[in-house]
Amino acid sequence: MLIIRNKKWMERNVLRNEGELVGMIKGCTRTCGLLGNPVEHTLSPMIHNTLAESTERELVYVPFCVPQGGIEAAVRGAEALNILGLNVTVPYKSAVIPFLHDIDPFAERIGAVNTLVRDIDGFKGYNTDLPGLYRAMCDDHVDIEGEHVLILGAGGVARAVAMLMVEKGAKEIILMNRTLQKAERVAREVNEFSGTKTARGISITSIGELSDKQSYLAIQATSVGMYPNIDEVIIEDDTFYDKVHVGYDLIFNPSSTRFMEKVQEKGGRAYNGLKMLLYQGILAYELWTGEEVSAQNINKVYKRLLEVQKNETKDAI
Ligand code: NAP
Repeated sequence: MLIIRNKKWMERNVLRNEGELVGMIKGCTRTCGLLGNPVEHTLSPMIHNTLAESTERELVYVPFCVPQGGIEAAVRGAEALNILGLNVTVPYKSAVIPFLHDIDPFAERIGAVNTLVRDIDGFKGYNTDLPGLYRAMCDDHVDIEGEHVLILGAGGVARAVAMLMVEKGAKEIILMNRTLQKAERVAREVNEFSGTKTARGISITSIGELSDKQSYLAIQATSVGMYPNIDEVIIEDDTFYDKVHVGYDLIFNPSSTRFMEKVQEKGGRAYNGLKMLLYQGILAYELWTGEEVSAQNINKVYKRLLEVQKNETKDAI
């Protein structure tokens, strides 16, 4: 039995009326889904059900809230049920790895998977978050090669972003974090991985250590400024933003964060994390189906994401 929770849930999840739902689920329909906790606010069902509808594939995507300690049972259950593919989100991106029969080398290096693909022996883990961010940056004409990059934060995503930046040829990477030791540790790991001295860690308050001659690509990889705390910004000091020519905030709700506004006020270009979300989903769908998603269908999903984003920002005011 499918329980439709409320109107907002319905609007987000494409299954707009009973007629469509009845026509959509068939005996041959394959299931994909999301393992995480919480999962109530995810936009992934909207992304994948739109893609399934647009590509006329017998596929349905549903969120699964996995209780604490339940990730192994969830993976084994998904194997038994012949689930085609899964996304994995907080808090299981690393915890799921021991229960996979194989892992893509890039995902193994960053120690986090967000996509599981079914094969004959079980599930293989991939990370599409970072290739998703890279594709988003290419779309937005943000170059990485030869760049001086500031990464704000040193959590799981910041670490993965730093690995991506070094792999794509950044000239210098400075991780700025509230907890200095974490920034230094991640910088060490990036340097070990790359065999270079590209990365270093400094405190988030050490703006004076940045070069006056350099203009930076700054990637905001903390949760500061995310809804509902939309008035917060990771660095208040305006002099910091004089040094930033592109600001990329990985947050997508709100659509324009205070970090982005501050970058723009000083003449820089600023982007949010919605396209990263879009492309991690597109890449996961391509892994599950073996089918390249057309530019037209990517656009269709992006438009729907923008609509949801607009409505949610409106609801938030
Ligand atoms: P995480 O592992 O929990 O790391 C959080 C980071 O934020 C840490 O560096 C932490 O500093 C810092 N931080 C948190 N609160 C702070 C505060 N009040 N002041 C200063 N620093 C603070 O989180 P994560 O998994 O890396 O995710 C980071 C962000 O990426 C999330 O906000 C999420 O929105 C975004 N994200 C976006 C996408 C997308 O598709 N667009 C996908 C994944 C994640 P300390 O080390 O000092 O604690």
